[in-house]
This record gives sequence, structure tokens and C-alpha cells, in this order.
Amino acid sequence: MLTIGIDDTDSERSLCTTYLAAVLMERLGAVGEVEDLPRLVRLNPCAPFKTRGNAAVAFALRSDRTEEVEEIALQTLIELSDLAGENTNPGLVVAETVTPEMRGFYRRAVTEILEIDEARKMLQEHGIWHRGFKKGRGLIGALAAVGSAFEDHTFELIHYRYRDRWGTPRSIDEPSVWRADSQTYPGTWDTVDMGSRRVVFSPHSPDPILFGIRGEDIGAIEMAASIIESEPAERRVLYITNQGTDSQMLPGEMGDLCDDRSYRLRGTVASNPCAIAGGHLFFDLASNGARLECAAFEPTKGFRDIVKRLMPGDLLEVYGAVRGGALNLEKMEVIALAERLEWNAPVCPTCKRRMKSAGKEQGYRCRRCRTSGERESRALPREIETGLYEVPPSARRHLTKPLIRYEGECVHPSR
Ligand code: ATP
Repeated sequence: MLTIGIDDTDSERSLCTTYLAAVLMERLGAVGEVEDLPRLVRLNPCAPFKTRGNAAVAFALRSDRTEEVEEIALQTLIELSDLAGENTNPGLVVAETVTPEMRGFYRRAVTEILEIDEARKMLQEHGIWHRGFKKGRGLIGALAAVGSAFEDHTFELIHYRYRDRWGTPRSIDEPSVWRADSQTYPGTWDTVDMGSRRVVFSPHSPDPILFGIRGEDIGAIEMAASIIESEPAERRVLYITNQGTDSQMLPGEMGDLCDDRSYRLRGTVASNPCAIAGGHLFFDLASNGARLECAAFEPTKGFRDIVKRLMPGDLLEVYGAVRGGALNLEKMEVIALAERLEWNAPVCPTCKRRMKSAGKEQGYRCRRCRTSGERESRALPREIETGLYEVPPSARRHLTKPLIRYEGECVHPSR
């Protein structure tokens, strides 16, 4: 059994690694048989050189014609990579076995930032056939994709455009997309964004992707595809993927976090949320004597309305990537709410009027009745409930587990 991994073949102006893999799988049908579903592997969303969503692809091929497989893969990669792209550094890996070290490399590529030399060293030590072009950075993603094993998974069905349409506006009937969403959600998700009334399952870039339908239920995904009316697709591929699984999230402790990694951690809100120009929102979270700035940026839209209602003392579990020392919120669980108190002068038990202050730290007195008392508190309602909240589909990270995949009552999915 061969496992083929590919990465970093596209650029912002053209092509797509998943398309290359789709064409390659078809061509390799002449010398072998693709086993299982191909894997759409998302890697660390903080990787510095990603074009879009830091995706790589791997698939298993049953074949005993290894040299021909390598040759076809190499020719297809050369033909369908944007080698002139400034940041395009393709990597191709064909492995005969997948070792525990390669599995570990995948885990680290999802959670950490790795160096090209580390990928090259592992490929050499394991004697794995590979080709890297230009800087060869794609070898990181290609090797990680080959080593990938998903503890949890979802699916994405991608439709690709005919070549003569690349770069032209996509012809997709929007009402049919909304119908597909309403008939298949929650079996599918992230097709539309209700808050902004936008269709979000289709890119606007000049790449070959027509649209991608995400979900956990293959039947629902296929049903959505049958409802959507669009220009004809040249081909379609169903991928198994680590999208929507939180694979990038590390359990974190405040005071011990690294930039460019994603964490799940607990703390208490330590400052009132504060908005800056541009609509970005910030507050501090504290735990074990350490503080961490948390940010809900403008693109997280309605999620900020929830964040705004937090107050010091609220206990949270936050999820997000740490960049420049601050955590960019993607999701949060409000575990416990602090009491919001209103303080008033006490009421005189005799005349039922409010007492007056008797001076600094001297309590309150009713001058008429000569009674005295201490100020009284009253709990005000909080305009937020405990439970899980997330950013809307338009701001979602591919890897982050959407709340629609959670069970329980205190879950507030953003659709
Ligand atoms: P697309 O989503 O359109 O396929 P992309 O966002 O996946 O594009 P790439 O063009 O594949 O972007 O570029 C990402 C680059 O970062 C690749 O060279 C890949 O090998 C590398 N990379 C992936 N994960 C890591 C990581 N954890 N550390 C360092 N480099 C990484």
C-alpha cells in the first residue's frame, strides 16, 4: 500500500492542491486502486506561509507499480502547480509505510510550527521517496498528510469547475443553496451565514473549486449537493477530513503559552470588555496569578455582542490561537457568571423612606426616625447565559469544532 501526500502547489492567483489530488487519483486509476476516502488534512492555522486554509491532501493507493506511480504523481504535480507563484513551494511524498514517528509529525504539524529541515531529515531517515520544488516547504505538509490519522473526523464534498470557467464568476443559484441548507442542517454546516445573509461555501478566488459542502452525515451532504443548482462540475470528490474537530487545540495553562499555537484554557474575566476603533473587542482573563489578553476581532461580528456582556468575575473556558501574546477567541464556554449587584441606601423600617449617608464609612441614617443601617445590594439580571458560544460561519477556522457538533442544552451554535 502506498500513501501519497501533496502540499503547497497553489497560489492566491490559481490552482488548488485538492484539485491536483483529484486529477492525480483519476490518473493513478491506470496503475492502482485508491483505497478509502482521500484525506483533506488541515494543519496549524497559524503557519506563516499558508495561502488560505493550510490544507494538504493524502490518499492511499493499492499498487505494486511504485515507480510508475511516482512518475505519474511527479508529472501531475509539475503540470498542476503554480510553480511561478512567489510563495508556492510544492512537496510530494510517496510512502510505502507509515510509522509512529510520521504520525507524531502530523500531530506536531497541526499544533506547532515546524521547519523544512525536520521534514527532510525524517524523509531521508525513513528512506521515503519525495520531491520538493523551490524551497520545498510543501514537504512539511505532504509528510504530515501522509502521517495523518484522525481521532475525530468530518467530511467535505468538493465540486470542481471546468477549466474554461476558472477565473470567471461562479454560477450558483443562491436560493437553492439556502434550500439545501435548511433541508440538511445540522447534517451539513457552514454552507451559509445567517447573520450576514451570505453564502459561504464557495470561494471567490480564481481557483478550480466550485463549492464544498461540509458535514458529519454523508447522506445529508449528498442531499444538499442534489438540491444545489449551479454550473456543471468537472468532477467531485468526497474527502474525510480533520476539519471541525478541534485537532489544533492544546490544553493550555495561562502563563505557559506559545505564539502561533491554539489553546483551550480556563480563567476568570479580569477586566471589562473594551472596544477599540474598528470594532475589535478586548478583555483580560486571569488564572494562577497570570493574565492573558483575549480578543474578539471585528470579523467575528455578532459573537462580539456576547463578549461585550462579560464582566469581571465570570469564569470562562476560551478557545483560540495565541498571536502576539493575545488569544484570538474562536469559541468560549461561559461556565459561571459573576453576580451583577446594584447598591442602594437602606429603607427606614419606620417611615419606609430611603436613609441618607451618615458620612464616609459611617453607614446610613434616617434623620427623622433616628434609625440607622448599611447599604443594601440587589442582584441585577445578567444579559448572558452560561454555555458555549462561537464565532459565525464566516469567521470560523476550518479546524475548529463547530457547536452544532456538540450535544447538550447550554450550546448556542452560530449558524
Ligand atoms: P490552500 O488551502 O489553498 O491549499 P494553504 O493555505 O494550504 O493553501 P499552502 O500553499 O499549502 O497554503 O502553504 C502552506 C505551507 O505551510 C506549506 O508549505 C506547508 O508545508 C507549510 N506548513 C504546513 N503546516 C506547517 C507547520 N505546522 N509549520 C510550518 N509550516 C507548515
